[in-house]
Amino acid sequence: GGSVETLEFQAETRQLLQLVIHSIYSNKDIFLRELISNASDALDKLRLESLVDSDLEADTSDLHIVLEVDAEARTLTVRDNGVGMTRDEVVELIGTIAKSGTAGLLEKVKQAKDAEAAQSLIGQFGVGFYSAFMVADKVSLRTRRAGSEAGTLWESDGQGTYDIAEADGLPVGTEVVLHLKPVDSEDGVADYLAEWKLRQIVKQYSDFIRWPIRMPIERGGEDGVSVTELQTLNSMKALWARPRSEVSQEEYNEFYKQISHDWNDPAETVHMRAEGTFEYEALLFIPSQAPFDLFSRDTKRGVQLYVKRVFIMDDCEALMPNYLRFVKGVVDAHDLSLNISREILQHDRQIRGVRRRLVKKVLGSIKDMQTADAERYAKLWAQFGRVLKEGLIEDTDNVEALLDLICLDSTHDAEKPTTLRDYVSRMKDGQDAVYYLTGANRATVENSPHMEAFAAKGYEVLILTDPVDEVWAEQVPAFDGHPFQSIAKGQVDLDAGEDEAAGEEKAQREADFAALLPWLAATLSEHVKQARLSSRLTTSAACVVGDDEDMTPMLEKMYRAMGQ
Ligand code: ADP
Ligand code: MG
Repeated sequence: GGSVETLEFQAETRQLLQLVIHSIYSNKDIFLRELISNASDALDKLRLESLVDSDLEADTSDLHIVLEVDAEARTLTVRDNGVGMTRDEVVELIGTIAKSGTAGLLEKVKQAKDAEAAQSLIGQFGVGFYSAFMVADKVSLRTRRAGSEAGTLWESDGQGTYDIAEADGLPVGTEVVLHLKPVDSEDGVADYLAEWKLRQIVKQYSDFIRWPIRMPIERGGEDGVSVTELQTLNSMKALWARPRSEVSQEEYNEFYKQISHDWNDPAETVHMRAEGTFEYEALLFIPSQAPFDLFSRDTKRGVQLYVKRVFIMDDCEALMPNYLRFVKGVVDAHDLSLNISREILQHDRQIRGVRRRLVKKVLGSIKDMQTADAERYAKLWAQFGRVLKEGLIEDTDNVEALLDLICLDSTHDAEKPTTLRDYVSRMKDGQDAVYYLTGANRATVENSPHMEAFAAKGYEVLILTDPVDEVWAEQVPAFDGHPFQSIAKGQVDLDAGEDEAAGEEKAQREADFAALLPWLAATLSEHVKQARLSSRLTTSAACVVGDDEDMTPMLEKMYRAMGQ
């Protein structure tokens, strides 16, 4: 070995370190995720280099990561036999933050109003290796670059300086030794010497890392002699990273059950890979059964975000709109920081692009099912139709696609809901609008006096009984050029297009009732705005209708229930 040199951290690095140590992160467990992800990158790099450079003498036959604890010394070691670093690389990569924009970022962090705002800023950046200082008061790193003889030792307490020295006899790869801080549950420092804790963190964050993560486990053998065996902690099976042609539906189903905790097979599987400037893989499932809490206020969305096989977060709302909250699965994006925050994701242009594509894919696969298998589709609609209808309000970009999917009760067939396309194909000559009536249930709607004239004249009316129907039917202007028209509102002129004699009859009727109408309006002035003659009724004498801009009674009730 050579002499030890003590160097100062670059000013910005030091500041960032202070931020990290002084607990920007409430979740300290993620340090292990960061170190394992670095090790995994180093293994990837070595494999790639050895393929490209046949002169590189590197053993790639058993690339792996090892976790080791020393209870007496209170150290946790993360070791890999990957590409390693030269001395210069250590100084450059570990001693500095070789990322542009650090200074500006730190400035903003200092001005951040609270810890949460600061964390979200840091999240854009990713602190990586330095997160080790959240749980360790000293970190030693030993490394040897593949293709080089010299090894390097780096050591720091994360304050102002680090020591660097030459080290002999190191194997190729990198070893990071954490001298652990005392357990402090209040500060979120868990017992990182405990086997169960390490297993749990690996399972949660690093299960799909493609290289084995091993740990020596001591077992009490016979005669009280304990034996140590290396166990692999991660499953390594990232189904989404494999080509579609190599994955069977059984494997997809198994994976779905694992991530969703559902016992049933999924109804649909969507597996895609995007290449180009923003690479990602997505493996999504549409369940066959709606969860019981689909309509509770805080149901979670089912899409998990990974970055290069490292688990980042559950319930990633930036990737799936609310009305597709029943979709389960995984999105693995390659070029995001591991510390990316929800806030940043929400505003990331590329993530929005991903979301747009995923939504199109999911709606497309639902559409395919509708075309291919009406019976299966009817089942799916029964489970998720009500939620999908929320999309008509929430997702203006996909209204057309959603209108194509929706199935609605109608006066045409009491047994079977209709699509809008089928409704339109049955419209009467001269009918322009899609007629509907909302109400609490089918019977109420069918027996409504508003129905009479429409039934008598043979017009089909959609029977809308979901609260959400009130909202979208108001908001969505038209289907295929046909406006939606509530038959409970405004003037629906069923006589349009009939002959002149009818017009004369109408004039006569108006004259007959000329005195009655103002009297009715005056007498009922507390309850109605206006009394007018109607062509809607055949057997009832009168009915109450709303103005075009009025809320329907059910919508009024809904708003009142929401306290508005
Ligand atoms: P990031 O992983 O986002 O680049 P980190 O702070 O985690 O940031 O790591 C900084 C750099 O240090 C890495 O990009 C890599 O070049 C180097 N590095 C860290 N850990 C290892 C390792 N185990 N083996 C080789 N290089 C490493
Ligand atoms: Mg990293």
